Amino acid sequence: ALPVVTIVGRPNVGKSSLLNSLAGEMISIVESTAGVTRDRVSTLVELNGRYVELVDTGGYGIVDEGELTRHVEEQINNAVAMADVVLFVVDIRDGIMPLDQDIAQMLRKHDLDVILVANKADSPKQLGSAGEFQRLGFGEAIPISATNFVNRAELLEKVSDNL
Ligand code: GDP
Ligand code: MG
Repeated sequence: ALPVVTIVGRPNVGKSSLLNSLAGEMISIVESTAGVTRDRVSTLVELNGRYVELVDTGGYGIVDEGELTRHVEEQINNAVAMADVVLFVVDIRDGIMPLDQDIAQMLRKHDLDVILVANKADSPKQLGSAGEFQRLGFGEAIPISATNFVNRAELLEKVSDNL
């Protein structure tokens, strides 16, 4: 079977944008507001000469905090069940949010290869802010911009290294 790379993270950090960016086309629906109901989306992507299945985990009709927590737990469970590599996406402009910490805690319970990705680093001066995410316990975050293709090659390299 092909290696599975699953993208997890709280709503609105840019998971779907990252999938589209890595796939090189518009596959997953990008929403400007968090919590729109949609199905999980997966696609085959060539990463440095190798095919992987890239899985986006989306919103499942999030209406309140409890719902949000269940949604995240569902994501993590899916990631654990299927993934060879997890891309854990955070928002470099927001810094560490409580839900990021919840996700980190859930991911740590499992023996997974986790690559921490700090998205929305659109401009060079934001790259330095990636350091604080080390506190999440998955090493240094790679600052990227899904929309501006910042560090795209570096991320692909890192994924390939973990396959
Ligand atoms: P998801 O809920 O995690 O799947 O997030 P989406 O991919 O739907 O993106 C949420 C919002 O963040 C959308 O308005 C995107 O256009 C925006 N977004 C995603 N990636 C980036 C990025 O690299 N830079 C900026 N500035 N905005 C981004
Ligand atoms: Mg999404």
